[in-house]
Amino acid sequence: MRKQIHDGADGIKLWTGSPEASGVVITPLDLAKAIVTEAHRAGKPVFAHPTNQDGAEIAIQSGVDILAHTTDAGGPWPPSLVERLKSAHMALIPTLTLWHVESKNESREGFEKGMNEVVLPQLRAYSEAGGQILFGTDVGYIEQFDTSEEFVWMSRAGMSSQQILESLTTNPAQRFGYSSHSGRIAKGMDADLVVLRADPAQDATAFSKVRYTIRSGNVIYSEK
Ligand SMILES: [Zn+2]
Repeated sequence: MRKQIHDGADGIKLWTGSPEASGVVITPLDLAKAIVTEAHRAGKPVFAHPTNQDGAEIAIQSGVDILAHTTDAGGPWPPSLVERLKSAHMALIPTLTLWHVESKNESREGFEKGMNEVVLPQLRAYSEAGGQILFGTDVGYIEQFDTSEEFVWMSRAGMSSQQILESLTTNPAQRFGYSSHSGRIAKGMDADLVVLRADPAQDATAFSKVRYTIRSGNVIYSEK
């Protein structure tokens, strides 16, 4: 981990719960704590892939900053877990599209049931509790670059267009320490803007319909 930080890693991701053929392997707490301590000493945020509630527990107890996913295994989160995640100031990246990509061997019916009964209630509960939600897709591991599906799932979990907007802008700016100059449109802030071609208040998939991307005042993407 020290080598990765030395080589320029911006953050550390830890499998606190790892799905293996034999079942979910949980990272020992002392090992997770040592990793988080070292990462924080270097000023780097730590992400966890929890897999299930035991993995989320290790993330909480070891001081992880961000759950990189909801937990597709182990059922919906009880209120006590939601409360403890909130108290730990944990951020959550839902990565709901990831579960669709991963469900390719499952029936559509079984997949929808898992989303409706396990995963979406987790995001709904954490969002309603005021937990911090960050947008993310796992692109790089998955190849679905179109983000529209993710916005549909986030809406189905009860997030308003305003809350989804926050997950794309002010929340990550705050979490990663850029809120003094990024995340909002205001005088003196970085000229980093995304211009949409439709109104996300009418349809959340409009967040994926990008007309222009502006970075430091320069148009770096323009819809054809
Ligand atoms: Zn992961």
